[in-house]
Amino acid sequence: MAALPDALTSVFDEVVRRNPGEAEFHQAVREVLESLGPVIAKRPQYVDAEIIRRLCEPERQIIFRVPWTDDAGRVQLNRGFRVEFNSALGPYKGGIRFHPSVYLGIVKFLGFEQIFKNALTGMPIGGGKGGSDFDPKGRSDAEVMRFCQSFMTELYRHIGEHTDVPAGDIGVGGREIGYLFGQYKRITNRYESGVLTGKGITWGGSQVRTESTGYGTVFFVREALASRGGSLDGRTVVVSGSGNVAIYAMEKAAELGARVVACSDSGGYVVDEAGIDLDLVKEIKNGRRGRIAEYADARPSARFVADGSIWDVPCDVALPCATQNELDEDGAAALIRGGCGIVAEGANMPTTPAAVRALRSAGVVFAPGKAVNAGGVATSALEMQQNASRDSWTFEHTEARLSDIMGQIHARCLETADEYGTPGDYVAGANIAGFTHVADAMLALGV
Ligand code: GLU
Repeated sequence: MAALPDALTSVFDEVVRRNPGEAEFHQAVREVLESLGPVIAKRPQYVDAEIIRRLCEPERQIIFRVPWTDDAGRVQLNRGFRVEFNSALGPYKGGIRFHPSVYLGIVKFLGFEQIFKNALTGMPIGGGKGGSDFDPKGRSDAEVMRFCQSFMTELYRHIGEHTDVPAGDIGVGGREIGYLFGQYKRITNRYESGVLTGKGITWGGSQVRTESTGYGTVFFVREALASRGGSLDGRTVVVSGSGNVAIYAMEKAAELGARVVACSDSGGYVVDEAGIDLDLVKEIKNGRRGRIAEYADARPSARFVADGSIWDVPCDVALPCATQNELDEDGAAALIRGGCGIVAEGANMPTTPAAVRALRSAGVVFAPGKAVNAGGVATSALEMQQNASRDSWTFEHTEARLSDIMGQIHARCLETADEYGTPGDYVAGANIAGFTHVADAMLALGV
């Protein structure tokens, strides 16, 4: 493990003590605190005002019962969460995840990351996250609808366009946002578009929101390569996952001239040296909600690997876009062997701390999710802007805004890393730039 600054050891110990068993949350907190040594040396007022201790404690945590009826008429029970972590910069903002692995520790890690990610976008949004241990896999549309309605029947009283604005995450896409928004509207009798983002284009959504996390990830990589005199043209790219983030990262990478050769889901990965056929992936994953194994059945140039690691596929650029801690030390060693030059996180905290250390000591450029994947939430903030002004922008205009924002985030990371004596370090740059932005607002707003 890397060292914590002395002044923050007791802060971290307190986080572990107050949040027992929440390993992912501890990991996310530690990762940020490890970067803050040079900041507290320069600006001790953050420690004096207990800003860091306060930041590690969510402002509010809501846990609720979600009962619903399945198609066979049986009553099912799940648990719902919303962690309203920090509102110094604006209303709580962050997605909702539906996945059987969800528990309070996952929601807190995601909410904590979201604070700094949202700050980095430069938009007026605080940090929060929600979710449920509900597993949408294999459920009918009607079951998903009843679950979403029950979830919102409790959640509605805690959210609002000026309070807390959820969106999607793993397991929550356009279909779920539709059912959630419908129930919010039904209960409150308000067409309050700004209460959720990721809405459909015809009912208050924004162009590019669906594509934005994946596109933004690739825009960040483009900036990182350009700052080193390179480009994506002709580069071989491996993308883990085949959900919303992965699909649109692959699309933009291919558009910028890269050759995307592999993607995956929880059942295994596919390699296609002819280049991944995105229409086919979209048809399998979005059209029929199928498995990535079906890709290899339909493409003679592809092979499916059920047991193994996607990081064994040699590449220049690796984009982990599936889930937390999916890229471990073995994966990092395989990427290094395969000649990978840059790893950029499309998912939230997909790389374990040991893997990050291994990559960086081998000279691989590493760019963390809170900077790289911030394009999703940034475009959510653009959706909120359009909702507030009852406007809707074109695809071109919205994509140009996203591209600018990603350029600014990249520049902010590098400038901050320079200022604090760690040139070129995206981890320190992202953590310190996000932190100081929120911390200054917290100081200004008082205890
Ligand atoms: N779930 C996404 C994230 O991890 C987007 C959140 C949002 O748009 O509010 O940043």
